[in-house]
Amino acid sequence: MSAMEDGHSFLASVDRYYDKAAALTVHAEGLLQQIKTCNSVYKFQFPVRRGDAYEVITAWRAEHSHHKLPVKGGIRYSEEANQDEVIALATLMTYKCAIVDVPFGGAKGAVKINPRNYSVDELQSITRRYTAELIKKNFIGPAVDVPAPDYGTGPREMAWIADTYLAFHGDQIDALGCVTGKSVSQGGVRGRTEATGLGVFYGLREACSIEEDMKKIGMTTGLAGKTVVVQGLGNVGYHAAKFFAEADSKIIALAEYEGAIFNSNGLDLEAVVKHRKETGSLLNFPGATNLGSRDEALELECDILIPAALENQITAENAPRVKAKIIGEAANGPITADAEAILDAKGIMVVPDVYINAGGVTVSYFEWLKNLSHVRFGRMGKRFEQGAYEKILTIVERETGRSLTADERRVVARGADEQDLVYSGLEETMISAYHQIREIKMRNPNVDNLRTAAFINAIDKVASCYMELGIFP
Ligand code: NAD
Repeated sequence: MSAMEDGHSFLASVDRYYDKAAALTVHAEGLLQQIKTCNSVYKFQFPVRRGDAYEVITAWRAEHSHHKLPVKGGIRYSEEANQDEVIALATLMTYKCAIVDVPFGGAKGAVKINPRNYSVDELQSITRRYTAELIKKNFIGPAVDVPAPDYGTGPREMAWIADTYLAFHGDQIDALGCVTGKSVSQGGVRGRTEATGLGVFYGLREACSIEEDMKKIGMTTGLAGKTVVVQGLGNVGYHAAKFFAEADSKIIALAEYEGAIFNSNGLDLEAVVKHRKETGSLLNFPGATNLGSRDEALELECDILIPAALENQITAENAPRVKAKIIGEAANGPITADAEAILDAKGIMVVPDVYINAGGVTVSYFEWLKNLSHVRFGRMGKRFEQGAYEKILTIVERETGRSLTADERRVVARGADEQDLVYSGLEETMISAYHQIREIKMRNPNVDNLRTAAFINAIDKVASCYMELGIFP
């Protein structure tokens, strides 16, 4: 049974989660409707030349909530894209930004293509034309709507978007802030590429550090030795897997489009990536077993399952066979609402997408701030900090009579550079947001899971924004 058959499009699932959480808040019905509804959707078509022929491409940009500006959200290149999906993703962006205290409304864009079927030149034409259409309707700009990468797009597409925007608005001093997820040479920030995967890691590490919660699901605290399964080895899945491997977790299975591989002793992530690059497939990796199908990976016994591909992967059909103790929704919407009820009943802890994959937008926010301030994070303070630490160490050495080695000095007396500050800001964001959500769940016995708690948190924050403006009582 597909997700559509079990009665739940992605948008219907998001709306169901919203309604369940909204019913547990005290806000007036009109205000709750305003927070739920998608403010504007722009659907458009444009032609692209392919050889001697032309193809008409369909695309969207949805701006879910203008309660804060700019609105923010990725652009997806996918054959499966449709208007409901774009609205669902834009909706999640509003709640996600609220949960991690990023001062943006939510948005999302999509181009209905499979990028694998187009040459680089064609992708460039499509991306530039998509951007030009957004410019015409004022659906892009550092103060109005700031896209970012999502499924099927990355720094290359973001650079084309920025360049096109600059061609139209080169006289705007903050024009580079029209898009995030750019490479550092194009005005990006260090740490953005890995940000979503790193955020997934920080969030799950925090969840796994709370003894009381781990006991309830039969786990010990910490990540070392924990078994992890990752579905989707793209930007988010690869980086999440990388940080778990670095924390000595065991990546026992990986799934990609073409299939899935398993090794109970753990897979060497970098060797798998190299194998896939060389052979074009994850399958037949030396020492690993090919699973019967790519979806079998979702049903393996493991401590942590990380779906990092697309929505609707765990449905009412396969949920009864899922054996993970924790699921970290690195992708957007990988679990349908029906499936979640089954997972809840089985005692599986779901750490929801609206929180756990918010690392991308958090660091996009840092990139936007960098673009507006026109200065690299750490540039002004790094040497000053280093000098201050040096002075303190000199006093400590004098008072204790112990001299530090040159290596010890280098470790301690170090000013923070851009990557240090981005990582530190992201870590702080993910940890404090987790505790806000967990506290809502602990405080209210009617809050059944972390997703409902996260939605309540988002609704309350967006509601207070409208109420402070005096728009709603
Ligand atoms: P990506 O295009 O870099 O990677 C996705 C990978 O999933 C691809 O390698 C693809 O081949 C694989 N895949 C597709 N269907 C699969 C299947 N059925 N089984 C196994 N693998 C499959 O995309 P991404 O940027 O990593 O995004 C992945 C998910 O994370 C999406 O849901 C996206 O909305 C979400 N997300 C991304 C970001 C970001 O910063 N890129 C931020 C938040 C959320």
